[in-house]
Amino acid sequence: MKIVVDPQRCRASGECVRACPQEAIRIEDGCAVIDHQRCDLDGICIPACPHDAISFDEQD
Ligand code: SF4
Repeated sequence: MKIVVDPQRCRASGECVRACPQEAIRIEDGCAVIDHQRCDLDGICIPACPHDAISFDEQD
């Protein structure tokens, strides 16, 4: 399982960057990017996103 960002939904508002306690999210070329080495899958960024752009990808 991992955290994924839907680039169609992301508006690069940065809410997730501020919410992430692990500093695992950055904005790159107008879209949030997850650093999977840092992410501890706490899920805090999911409700922090006002555009519903972040979710768990349960396939991985
Ligand atoms: S799940 Fe938690 S640690 Fe991972 S990117 Fe989101 S807020 Fe950061």
